[in-house]
Amino acid sequence: TALSVGGGTGFIASHVLDCLLDHGFNIVVTVRSQEKGQRIIDSIDKAQRQQVAFVVVEDIAEEGAFDEVIKADPPFDYVVHTASPYRMQWDDPVKDCLNPAINGTVGILESVHAHAPTVRRIVITSSSAAVLNPPNHPKVYDESSWSDVTWEQALDPEHTYRASKKFAEKAAWGFITVNKPSFTLATINNTYTFGPVPRSLNSLDAVNTSNHRIRDLVQGRMRHGIHPTAPVFTFVDVRDVALAHVRALTVPEAGGKRFYVVGGYFSNPRLAGIIRRRFPQLKGQLPPEEEAAKDDFPEDHWAFDNSRSKEVLGLEYTGLEKSVVDTVESILRFSGRA
Ligand code: NDP
Repeated sequence: TALSVGGGTGFIASHVLDCLLDHGFNIVVTVRSQEKGQRIIDSIDKAQRQQVAFVVVEDIAEEGAFDEVIKADPPFDYVVHTASPYRMQWDDPVKDCLNPAINGTVGILESVHAHAPTVRRIVITSSSAAVLNPPNHPKVYDESSWSDVTWEQALDPEHTYRASKKFAEKAAWGFITVNKPSFTLATINNTYTFGPVPRSLNSLDAVNTSNHRIRDLVQGRMRHGIHPTAPVFTFVDVRDVALAHVRALTVPEAGGKRFYVVGGYFSNPRLAGIIRRRFPQLKGQLPPEEEAAKDDFPEDHWAFDNSRSKEVLGLEYTGLEKSVVDTVESILRFSGRA
C-alpha cells in the first residue's frame, strides 16, 4: 500500500497514480478537497477503482498536516510526494510557493518518521531545477550537480519556483542525515515534462505549466510568431517520469539516490515541425513553416548524463516525436476534436 501526496489531480501525479495502479498497488491519495478526490475516483477505470481511496489534506504547509493520514490501517509501505506549486508568477513567493514546497516535503518526512514505522521508502518529485545552475552551466550535468540559487534570489518571483525545488530537496536530504529514519529516500529530478494531459482535467486553461507550449501551438497562440524556447531545451515524457517514481519506490538500490531524469532535447520550432507533419489538420493554427525551420537550439548547449536512471531504474526513454504526438492527441481528445 502506498500513500500518494497530491495524489492524482496534478499532471505528474495523475500519471504516477496510473503507473502505481498498473503495478498492482493499493493507493491512498491526498487531495485538497472532497470534490477533487471524487473527480479522481470517477476518472479511474471501474476495474481498478477499488485500489484507490482519497483523504483530504487542505494545506500541506501546515505543521502535522499528515499526522492522522499516515496512521492508516492497513499501514503504508511506501510514500510518494509529488505535490508542490508549479507556476511562474507569485503574489507572495513565501506563502504561495516556498512554504508549501519546503514544509510539505519536510512535513511528510516528519509524520512518517514519527508515526509510520512500516514505511520503507519515500520518493519525492524534486526537479532538474534543483540540479541546474544557470547561467554557470558545466559541460555535463548529472546527479552530483546542485543549483546554487540563494534564499535572497528565492524571494524574487523570477527565481522562486526553481529555488523552492532546491530548498525542498535540500531539506529532505538534510532530514535524513540528521534523523537517520528507518525509511530510505529517493528523489526524481525530472526535467521539463511533456505528455498526455490528466483524465481528470477540468479545462485546457488548467493544463500544467510544462505542457503550455504544446497547448499554445495547438490552439493557434503562436500562429503569428513562435515563442522563444529558452531557457529550457531538455524534455522527458511524463510516463517515463511516472515509471521512474514507481521503480524508485521498489528497487532496493534506488534508496539514498537522486535520479536526473531527462529524455532528450527539444525546441519550440522542433515541436511545431512535429505537429505540422503529424497533424495536417492543424496547419492553420501553426506558425509559418519558415519560422519553424529557424531552430533556436543553442549550438553550445550543455550535455546531460542520465545513465543512473537507466542502470538503476531501467528507464528506456520515450522520444520527442511520440511524446508530442500523444500530448497533442490528448489535447484534441479533450477539446472534442480528435
Ligand atoms: P501540476 O500543477 O499539474 O500539479 C501540481 C500538484 O501540486 C497538484 O496536485 C496540486 O494540487 C499540488 N499542489 C500545489 N500546491 C499545493 C499546496 N499548496 N497544497 C497541496 N497541494 C498542492 O504540476 P506538475 O504535475 O507538473 O508538477 C508536479 C510536481 O512535479 C511538482 O513538484 C513540480 O515541481 C514537479 N516537476 C514538474 C516538472 C514539469 O515539467 N511538469 C518538471 C520537474 C518537476 P491541486 O491540483 O489541488 O492544485
